[in-house]
Amino acid sequence: SPELARAASLIRSIPDVPKPGIVFRDVMPLLADARAFAAVIEAMAAPFAGRFDAVAGLEARGFLFAGAIAQATGTGLVPVRKAGRLPRPAARRDYTIEYGEATIEVQDDLPPGARVLIADDVLATGGTVEAACHVLREVGCRVVGATVLFAIPELCGRERIGDIELATVFEG
Ligand code: IMP
Repeated sequence: SPELARAASLIRSIPDVPKPGIVFRDVMPLLADARAFAAVIEAMAAPFAGRFDAVAGLEARGFLFAGAIAQATGTGLVPVRKAGRLPRPAARRDYTIEYGEATIEVQDDLPPGARVLIADDVLATGGTVEAACHVLREVGCRVVGATVLFAIPELCGRERIGDIELATVFEG
């Protein structure tokens, strides 16, 4: 759609962030535009319409998308956070990121068997989505899939997350 094409033009590529040789995809200009933000939220939710009870947002930019998707679809929200930030974590997972290691945690605030959609801004290597899926299942959720605004195909995130259903609005 023309609205999504316009939204794509609002994702900024910033060379050498956070390190020399890396191109950082910055979604903040898109979020700042009301029509673009609304269009991508609809596009992120549509492939999973009627199939989820809550959205799991991945810290930190995933929170922005997950909250909006949850409100647009009448579903709940569960934050998947970096270790040490939640008051009562119920599951934890260590995983490797592009340059090092990370740990995420989640609480068990959803009812058992809740159908959860994972949401984030960018899928790079897929390690974060894979780890999120792991902790959500550990607290009794059924992960129905993951939806991301932008995927970077060269980093093979789709391969890493295996049979988790993935929806992407933009790739490149
Ligand atoms: P992955 O675990 O390698 O897939 O990395 C994905 C995580 O890192 C997501 O939570 C993203 O927010 C963040 N990330 C990686 N690359 C970028 C980027 O170019 N722009 C914005 N976020 C990124």
